[in-house]
This record gives sequence, C-alpha cells and structure tokens, in this order.
Amino acid sequence: MVGLVLGLTLGLLAGWSVATGGPLEAHAANLSWWIDGLVQPVGRIFLRIIFMVVIPLIVSAIVIGVAEMGDARTLGRIGLRTLWVTLLLSGISVVLALGLVNVLQPGRAIDETRRVQLVAAYGGASEKSIECAKEAKPISKTLLDLIPENPLAEAANAFNPDNPGGGLLAVMVFSLFIGVAMALSPPERVAVLRGFFDGVFEVSMRVIGFALKLAPLGVACLSFSVAARLGLDIFRTLGFYAAVVVGGLALHQFVVYPVVLVLLARRSPAEFFRGAKEAIVTAFSTSSSNATLPVSLRVAEEKLSIPPRIARFVLTVGASANQNGTAIYEGITVLFLAQVFGVELTVGQQLIVALMCIMAGIGTAGVPGGSLPLVVGVLLTIGVPAEAIAIILGIDRFLDMCRTALNVTGDLVIAAVVAKGESSVTREYQPVA
Ligand code: ASP
Repeated sequence: MVGLVLGLTLGLLAGWSVATGGPLEAHAANLSWWIDGLVQPVGRIFLRIIFMVVIPLIVSAIVIGVAEMGDARTLGRIGLRTLWVTLLLSGISVVLALGLVNVLQPGRAIDETRRVQLVAAYGGASEKSIECAKEAKPISKTLLDLIPENPLAEAANAFNPDNPGGGLLAVMVFSLFIGVAMALSPPERVAVLRGFFDGVFEVSMRVIGFALKLAPLGVACLSFSVAARLGLDIFRTLGFYAAVVVGGLALHQFVVYPVVLVLLARRSPAEFFRGAKEAIVTAFSTSSSNATLPVSLRVAEEKLSIPPRIARFVLTVGASANQNGTAIYEGITVLFLAQVFGVELTVGQQLIVALMCIMAGIGTAGVPGGSLPLVVGVLLTIGVPAEAIAIILGIDRFLDMCRTALNVTGDLVIAAVVAKGESSVTREYQPVA
C-alpha cells in the first residue's frame, strides 16, 4: 500500500506538472528519460523474477493438484462427487466473471487519448495482438491446439502472442494429462516423479517469495510510471474495476452458493453461513486458503456437522484445487486489462481465457497473492503487456482477502453437497434410528 500510494502520488504530480507547465515542465524530456531509463526497469526486475518461474510453477502445481484429486479414486464416490461439483462451481464462476466484465466493460472507462498513450508507452505488444485477434483461428483449430504436439515448444513460446499453437493453455492441458496419468500409476513407481514436481513447486514458490519481497519497490516504480502517464483517470478506472471484482464475488457468494446449498445440499443457506462464519472471517484476514484449512476443518465438523472423512478430503484438496474466487478475479482482471490496452479478444480467445482461469483455479497455491503468477502468465499469452499488472497490484491485497473468503466458502459448500449425497446413500443401508 505504501509503495502504491507513494508511486501514485509522485507519478500524478510528475505527470500533472509536465502537462500543466508546473515546476517540472522544463524537465518533461527528463521525465520520460527517468521513466524509461530507471523507474520502469526497476519495476520490470520485479516482474521478470515472477516470469522466470511461471511455467515451472504452473506445470508442477497442476500436476500435483490433479494427482491429488486423482487419489480420490481410492475414495471412490466421494472423489467423483467432489470433482463434478468443483467443475460445476468453477464453470459458473468463470461464466459470471466473463459476463460481468463484458457487460460492464470497466476497462473502457479510460479516456481514448490516454489509452493511445498507454499502448504507445508500453510497446507494440498489444498492437501486435490486436492484429492477431483480427486473423483469429477457427474454433476447431483452437480446440485441437489444446492438445500440444510438442509441449516443450509450447512452453518455450507460451508468452509469444504470435505462437500458432495452444500456448500456455496447451501446457496446462499437458500438465493435466501428466497429473491424471500419475494418479492412475502405482504409487511406488511414480514416487520419485511426484517428489520432483513437489520440489519444483516448492522452489518456484520460494522464487515468487523473493519477488514479493521486492514488491513494495516494484509496485512504487510501476505505479509511478502508470500514474504519470494516465493521470487521474487511473483512480476512476481502478475503482470501477475493483467494484466489478467485488460485485462478482458477492454475487457468487450470496446468490450462487445459496442456490447450490438449497438445491444440492438441501441446507438452509442462513444456517450454513452462520456456521461457516469463523472460517470465512479467517480466510478474509489471512488471504490464504492453506492457512485457513485448520479452521475450516473444525468448522465443517463441529458447526456444519459434515462427517470428518468427507471434510478432511474435500477441504484439503479444495484448499488448493477449488478456488472460485480466484477464477472470478482472474477472469475479470485479464479481460479488464485487455480492455484498458485496447486488445480486442474474439469469442474463441475469451473461451481460452475461461479455460485458463478454470485450470488456474486448480494451479493456484492457497497463499496470499498465489494467483499473481497465473494472471501474469495469462496476460502475456493474450498479448497484454505484463507491466499492465502494475495497475492492479497495489490494491491486490484487498481483493485477495475478498477472493480467499469466497475460495474457502466454496470448499465448505462442496463438502456440504458431497456430505448430502453420502448421507442419502448410507441411509439406504442404515435407516436413521
Ligand atoms: N490467496 C488466495 C487463496 O489463498 C489465492 C489467490 O487468489 O491469490 O486462496
């Protein structure tokens, strides 16, 4: 927050002085020199550290996430029910996000001349992808490209908007296949491979940790250059964006979940939310699904009367593999930034963003800021300059608190739905006394 406030204030001041002939006017040329020569490169170091590990992070996270879900085989019906409710809720959340951002268009709130300046300032990447969008691939080819011919080539070109293949999404699908295959293999034969992916994930998260240590400085630098170029427009645009994200999360929390609770879990939503309150508040204050896990487990068993074996399985897997809040946030953020930078996405490309967000939900670590590397990856894939993330980074912590609360509620909702199915099955054998 301090980095953001400092960067924005100084940036606004510098931009305003230059525009209105203030004390800095004589230094207008110097200002661009400072931005291009010093401020932006420092901000970019922060981003580069994240880029470096995006691919290994995504691959290892999805492989492990899917393999864990796959272990559900041993749990049979519980695993399958968890899987389908997870997919259903993730699908609804992404549709909701894309619908909201397309209807409300928060990224278009920005002044046209400002947009042109932004695109010019951040290089031709977005112009290039505007051209790419014009010659978009037919849907059939888009779908076929989901299965990569050469996963390594896709990984190497994942951030190249001119890449003719499936890019990052193809890498995600590849990881999905490896995860499923790993779950179906005898555990002792794949133990080393599993350990390897665990290690890659651990190390990548540490590197992200290094980047986050630099975050205050990086955010200050990136927001300085954005504010100097965008002026006061930044507040209007950012406020609108944050309102759309919070609105989307609220709709899912207070409309979608209650409907699912009534229809699939046959529970009173009011009673459910009363019971789940403690876990939701913990998620909100820690911004971490993983850190909330112990509280969710207790709440599920003690307050929501979910059988321990179901709670343990669903909540543990869900803490990293079911993140509806994250999916909503990623969908809105990516399309918002595409709108800000005037990158027009075809229906096919939006479909790709949707699929990527669903997979990103599986691949996001349940830690504060866990989804940032994924957002950066998706942005680069569709040709929005990654510096764009500077616009939203400063307010990310608040949005993280909100989306984590939804992530954790979602896990408890799934546990309730799965428990309902189980109780009706057991009742056939053990009539309630
Ligand atoms: N903080 C989120 C969680 O732990 C992940 C994210 O969206 O950054 O669930």
